[in-house]
Amino acid sequence: MGKTSRDKRDIYYRLAKENKWRARSAFKLMQIDDEFQILKGVRRAVDLCAAPGSWSQVLSKRIYEEDNESKIVAIDLQPMSPIPGVIQLQGDITSMDTANKVIEHFSGEKADIVICDGAPDVTGIHSLDEYMQAELILAAFNITSHVLRTGGNFLAKIFRSRNSSLLYAQMKKFFKDVYLAKPRSSRQSSCEAFVLCLNYQPPEGFVPSMTCMSLEEVSTDPEKVTPNNITGFITCGDLSGWDSEKSYTLDLDISFPGGSNPEDGKRYEFKEVVQPPTEPAYKDALEMKKNGIFWKMAADLNKETQAEIRREK
Ligand code: SAM
Repeated sequence: MGKTSRDKRDIYYRLAKENKWRARSAFKLMQIDDEFQILKGVRRAVDLCAAPGSWSQVLSKRIYEEDNESKIVAIDLQPMSPIPGVIQLQGDITSMDTANKVIEHFSGEKADIVICDGAPDVTGIHSLDEYMQAELILAAFNITSHVLRTGGNFLAKIFRSRNSSLLYAQMKKFFKDVYLAKPRSSRQSSCEAFVLCLNYQPPEGFVPSMTCMSLEEVSTDPEKVTPNNITGFITCGDLSGWDSEKSYTLDLDISFPGGSNPEDGKRYEFKEVVQPPTEPAYKDALEMKKNGIFWKMAADLNKETQAEIRREK
């Protein structure tokens, strides 16, 4: 694959680089916000699983640039390069210590909104990946139940599966309105969507805990899984705008609003990604490549694997 092939195949990847967003996901949050105005008037926001930081960039632009007194806390296992107005916490969202640190940064107050675009490391085993993603959302909800104020909102990425209606049912116990949002920038062919929970109203006597929900607990509550519990599915973004499934010609001047500007005739220009990962998982492999030992190690490993296969036969 050449340097430009992804640019041609993925218009939102290219638009992200043009507009200095760290990842194409920035468009997903902006399209959801354009539809639901969830960032309007927010003074305290939490971005869970934030690295490399495109959602935090959107929060910085739409909240911090509007009101310099507002506070944004971004959490991730990975380190992240600085963003104006964003306090960064390197930590695990499943830990109580992280929840306490968030509240500390808000001087004892709670957040108006919590957003989570988290994804666990993919194993390639579909059912396991789906399960891990669902567990991560529940972990996101658990920390949210500690840091979100009553009346606040929660947005989280999900991968739709046969278990999704159980999750919406559980969310409906805690929020007044629950929607499923599918932004235009999220590929139609992908089962990715965003559960948007509005107006946090925990049930009376509810005591937040870091283990208060699990998939098992959700699935043993058939009472809540009724056909009446249908969750609204909302597509967000201009339907006549950029299509995340389509390939666009590299001649197209995307810096011009609406796409091509025939008078300008500006040619395609390759741009580097805005913010490469600070601590990528493949860092050791790159180092080995630079030192010329990568291919030797890969060949040795291959020999070992082949020998093992022969032994097993
Ligand atoms: N929203 C980000 C953006 O716009 O740039 C992209 C998020 S990326 C798809 C998913 C992130 O989830 C990864 O950076 C990963 O480190 C983080 N993550 C996964 N499990 C986590 C956990 N338990 N605690 C904190 N972060 C986690």
